[in-house]
Amino acid sequence: MGGGPAGLMLAIELGCRDIPCVLLEEDADPPAFPKANATSSRTMEHYRRRGFSDEIRALGLPLDYPQDVVYCTQLAGHELARFRIPSRGDAARRSQAGDPAAGNAGDYGSEAWPTPELPHRAQQMLIEPVLRTRAAAYSSVRLCLGQRAVAVEQDADGVAVTVEPEGGGEPWRLDARYLVGCDGPRSMVRKSMGIGYSGQGSEQRDFFGGQMLSIYFRSRQLYGVMGKEPAWQYWAVNAHQRGLLIAVDGVETFLLAVQLAPGRQPADIDPVAVARAVVGSEFDFELIDRMPWVAGYTLVADKMASGRMFLAGDAAHLFTPTGGMGYNTSIDDVVNLGWKLAAVVQGAAPPALLESYERERRPMALRNTAFARRMADSIGNIRPDADIDAAGAAGERARAELGRRLAAHVASEFNIPGLQLGVRYLDSPIVAIEPGPAPQDDPNRYVPLALPGSRAPHAVVRGKVLFDLFGRDFTLLAFQGMNDVERASWRAVADEYGMRLDFLEIDDQAARVLYGADRVLIRPDHHIAWRGKAGADARPLLALATGRAMAA
Ligand SMILES: Cc1cc2nc3c(=O)[nH]c(=O)nc-3n(C[C@H](O)[C@H](O)[C@H](O)COP(=O)(O)OP(=O)(O)OC[C@H]3O[C@@H](n4cnc5c(N)ncnc54)[C@H](O)[C@@H]3O)c2cc1C
Repeated sequence: MGGGPAGLMLAIELGCRDIPCVLLEEDADPPAFPKANATSSRTMEHYRRRGFSDEIRALGLPLDYPQDVVYCTQLAGHELARFRIPSRGDAARRSQAGDPAAGNAGDYGSEAWPTPELPHRAQQMLIEPVLRTRAAAYSSVRLCLGQRAVAVEQDADGVAVTVEPEGGGEPWRLDARYLVGCDGPRSMVRKSMGIGYSGQGSEQRDFFGGQMLSIYFRSRQLYGVMGKEPAWQYWAVNAHQRGLLIAVDGVETFLLAVQLAPGRQPADIDPVAVARAVVGSEFDFELIDRMPWVAGYTLVADKMASGRMFLAGDAAHLFTPTGGMGYNTSIDDVVNLGWKLAAVVQGAAPPALLESYERERRPMALRNTAFARRMADSIGNIRPDADIDAAGAAGERARAELGRRLAAHVASEFNIPGLQLGVRYLDSPIVAIEPGPAPQDDPNRYVPLALPGSRAPHAVVRGKVLFDLFGRDFTLLAFQGMNDVERASWRAVADEYGMRLDFLEIDDQAARVLYGADRVLIRPDHHIAWRGKAGADARPLLALATGRAMAA
């Protein structure tokens, strides 16, 4: 339930496997106000698996517009620090080449992001219509838009949802085998399940900790007034009026986030005056819309499943937007849950498989919300000197010192290949865990890891991206030729279990070294379920990966 990014991507994961599902969304139209604007590498890889990363990459800022992050005293004032991020044109060229070191990787560093899909910047309000169209294209998906769920209940056999059409009309009842609450932070489903959030609620900081106001506006003069090389994010860091400006179309539309002083209400704020204070100059300003929101949450649901009901996305975790991981963690949740639900509904796995969802995803929600909180502290608690804009040596010293701190901060917030590509389920009940310590999970450094439970590492094999060669569901990757007996033994068990298994034989020494074994079982979400020797017994391995071992 819920047709934001989580609900729509879940529908896509189910639809591509021909699983009948109904998506209930109370809003008939997709959102028209900007929210999330950073799509992670991992989310782009998921979109690539479903065949539409190019379509998403085509959205957003102009092709060669830099996606830099820049810090200034005021936006028309001194530039303090700049983190260079490739334009989407550079990122697309690099993806096409399939070579992690090709193209301009900006301050990311060319080796740091071994992925065919660099992060991308485009507003959620542009992405959601693509997700809606993609979901609707599957014949097993029914999008019920303008339909509000008002009550849910479950028993041992199924769930029932009471639905009210927006704008009136007869309430109706929907019966289903399973329900996933992708219904956002106020989740009616979570409350009906009796599950609370735990963590830090609304922490106070000088910035990104308290009542925020987002102001969406148009200006034709602003780029000229700022007088800087274009950027995706512009931060004003001073003692008087902080603000974060995000370029929406790279031409004339912008989103400005400001924090309100304690006791002030969003309605008290004059958007023109506050925007001019952030910029430090007059400019033409046409208000499109405004939206209040609260920053400072680090919350994770105590449970992500109960009986036949599940939670995903913001319904299961709530972030402060630093690090840009709220929507991305939501997409990762439903990609994990989607193939499992499909396998259970199709009879290819027992319901016990679904227990692995919370075991795998809740630790990732804790990991990612903790990162966002550290980044909010790092930027939000910076206290610039009162004379940061002053002329003369004292002002220059203060700016140089603040610039150094901001340069260190920005790299820790945006150069995060470890956070995005290092997603790992090393304590999963459906993974053949290998003994011994795992390499450190460092958000700022990604070391390609082929331990079972980790995301399958990226490789280019004979000019092709390895991920693109994996099958839709499970893939047995073989680096050393398989004989007919071995192939037949895997096939027989997969057929008996009713699961789809593809074989991928690769003759490539570099990829074999990267994966560290002759045989690797890749899951539908491109995590590694097992790796080992040729001739291993297929039955216990496929039983483990499909939750049969948990059910036993
Ligand atoms: C200002 C701001 C900036 C952000 N920036 C970033 C960023 O840069 N990167 C990032 O990753 N994340 C960011 N986020 C977070 C991101 O927007 C959310 O994490 C993301 O939208 C979560 O997706 P979701 O599908 O779980 O929930 P939502 O997008 O909230 O979708 C839930 C859907 O459920 C529907 N719904 C709710 N209740 C019902 C009901 N009873 N019946 C029917 N439908 C219902 C709602 O209408 C809604 O469409 C930002 C958030 C904000 C507020």
